[in-house]
Amino acid sequence: MHFKYCPECGRKLTDKQAGDDGLIPFCEVCEQYYFDIFPSCVIVLTYNEFDEIALCRQSYLSDTYFNITSGFMEVGETAEEAAVREVKEELGIDVTELTYAKTHWFSPKGLLMHGFIAFAKKKDFRLSAEVDEAKWVPALEAPKIMFPESPSNAIYPIYRQFLKMRGLSE
Ligand SMILES: [Zn+2]
Repeated sequence: MHFKYCPECGRKLTDKQAGDDGLIPFCEVCEQYYFDIFPSCVIVLTYNEFDEIALCRQSYLSDTYFNITSGFMEVGETAEEAAVREVKEELGIDVTELTYAKTHWFSPKGLLMHGFIAFAKKKDFRLSAEVDEAKWVPALEAPKIMFPESPSNAIYPIYRQFLKMRGLSE
């Protein structure tokens, strides 16, 4: 989000030089700079001991395509804590190992996504109300039902890192 008005006093902000950062919206009354802010999210590929991936479908996004787990971080939480929490909330399974899978900028919504590869022992899902369907899918078959690849879609770089990590890619 790019600030145009001061969130404290409501006054229109004017651009002011802020050192090396260039021109930044500034409130003359509060004497405060307002740098752009953006939400931080986690995006988590969860796999089990059979190298199956947990894929879930949310009807408000698609009737056919599946996704990996994602969600907004909460204030005071680390990205690692958010990753474990989101998998638990959405799928009802417990992550026991996490591997960092880089950050990804989701330009359609201006979100910073923290990628993770998570291990959880295979068990039945206990879905949240936000998820309409979920299944364990053999890793190499996952792209058949995942959202198609696009430049802003972080699933595929994480998926490829997972294949490499597990020795499943050519
Ligand atoms: Zn102000």
